[in-house]
Amino acid sequence: MPLPMALARTARSLRQAYRLMRARNGHQHWWPGETPFEVCVGAILTQNTSWTNVERAIANLKAAGPIAPDALYGMSRPQLRECLRPTGYFNLKTERLGAFLKVLVEEHGGRLDQLFAGETAVVRERLLRIHGIGPETADSMLLYAGGHARFVVDAYTRRILGRHGWCDPTIEYDDLQALCEAALSHRPADWQLDYWQDYHAQLVMVGKDYCRRREARCEHCPLRPLLPADGPKA
Ligand code: SF4
Repeated sequence: MPLPMALARTARSLRQAYRLMRARNGHQHWWPGETPFEVCVGAILTQNTSWTNVERAIANLKAAGPIAPDALYGMSRPQLRECLRPTGYFNLKTERLGAFLKVLVEEHGGRLDQLFAGETAVVRERLLRIHGIGPETADSMLLYAGGHARFVVDAYTRRILGRHGWCDPTIEYDDLQALCEAALSHRPADWQLDYWQDYHAQLVMVGKDYCRRREARCEHCPLRPLLPADGPKA
């Protein structure tokens, strides 16, 4: 079905943006964790902190034993809390990781394939019912650990699209996700997962290296050809 005209324009821009980022950076093969379980743990720990801090916490967990559902669920809360200390808000994250582990181990036998089994929307609702898992965390788990194509929206996505005028910067999470998914569903279904995984990875790279919160370094950015004529929007 053809896209409405305004959405078709945004879709052209978003598809062109991917070609430019991909041409500059190559495919990222980005997988934020060594195993799907580690991806899930990282998705919870990265809330409001940098990935470097997450890596420190994951190193602590690895030093304490195997990173596996039963092993982490069997850790005492004080020990888990100490491992998560580098991530900031570590009391909160201990509770959130604990809630995820409880559901995974007690309701799904510690098996991610069971947790992720079913229609994407159903699995997403299952994840969102777990204390401390919001849309961005759930979608990161679905996309990078669960094999479900859901477009991940984060602060970089909102900032880059907002500065180019492709979305209202105050747009709600679900609305921005729907816009991206509608605009970027033009590839064959069996490419979709890889495409959206890499698309998010490319946005993270541009957001970190060029499109910073306090300063848009447009001069050398791969998305410079797509800037509005009067420069980035605030
Ligand atoms: S740094 Fe400039 S060109 Fe790059 S994404 Fe941000 S606003 Fe666009």
